[in-house]
Amino acid sequence: MARCLLLEKSNVKEFLDSFDTILTDCDGVLWEGAADYPIPGVPETIQQLKKMGKRVFYVSNNSTKTRAEYVVKCQKLQYDTTEEEVVGSAYATAQYVKHTLGYKGKVYIIGSSGIAGEFDAAGIPHFGVGEDGWNGRGLRDLLDIKIDPEVKCVVVGFDLHFNYVKLFTAQQYLSDPECLFIATNTDSALPAGGGGILPGTGAIVSAVEFSTGRQATVCGKPHNPLGDILVQQHGINPKRTIMIGDRLDTDMALAHNCGMRGLLVLTGFTKLEDARRLTASNSIAHQKQIPHYYLPSLVDLGKLITECGLV
Ligand SMILES: [Mg+2]
Repeated sequence: MARCLLLEKSNVKEFLDSFDTILTDCDGVLWEGAADYPIPGVPETIQQLKKMGKRVFYVSNNSTKTRAEYVVKCQKLQYDTTEEEVVGSAYATAQYVKHTLGYKGKVYIIGSSGIAGEFDAAGIPHFGVGEDGWNGRGLRDLLDIKIDPEVKCVVVGFDLHFNYVKLFTAQQYLSDPECLFIATNTDSALPAGGGGILPGTGAIVSAVEFSTGRQATVCGKPHNPLGDILVQQHGINPKRTIMIGDRLDTDMALAHNCGMRGLLVLTGFTKLEDARRLTASNSIAHQKQIPHYYLPSLVDLGKLITECGLV
């Protein structure tokens, strides 16, 4: 069972020898919220780990960016990255729909341009992203909305333009039990920077689930599709992989669900007391979120590597 051990000089070598692949969450680990600068010292730590021969993948539930857009953001924040090294929930969802489900038909998307871009790249036709164009007409006029009979898949992600019209449209498609229902992620909240919190994608997915009485298949952390893509497309070995993150219910749970180990850092969403509370719980769901290790910041791993002369 995971025990939430502090990484320190006495166990850091054993820790580093135990993996050759790193999956790192971004927000709360590499940078904070909307900040346009990295958490100090963390880019250098990632470089140290790469120098030691570790493969690094950047794994995010943020569905508003394509992989290419993520690379631009990472590079701006001093993380040297390629598209191959980025797995966002929009990418994971498009890959899951295309390769795992084998669906290449038309998709109705509640989401933003990041999802649209990844479905374009996958060659899957779609519509729905952006404003709905309804212009505040009456409730009865909703019935005039044309439902496209070719749509057999609804994808839900973060959508700033989400409203009743989109909810109605998704409900119409999903009333067909054959219509696939996929979500990018179900994070309850989004970090707004400066400690602020915004409603996350999970609130939008829940609205669609509630109105249809159906449950979405979720592709992002902590669910397996994202991990499966890394295994299938990049040949990672979960037993030799560490997941670094700042959240228990997504990052650490992904580690458990995919048979990896998890390193929690305290530079984002989670306080040490939150993790400690889980270690005292008998609930299996809680135990599947306990970090194997923790550090105040990822920069502390860099300090330990230097102090122990490991690079
Ligand atoms: Mg995070």
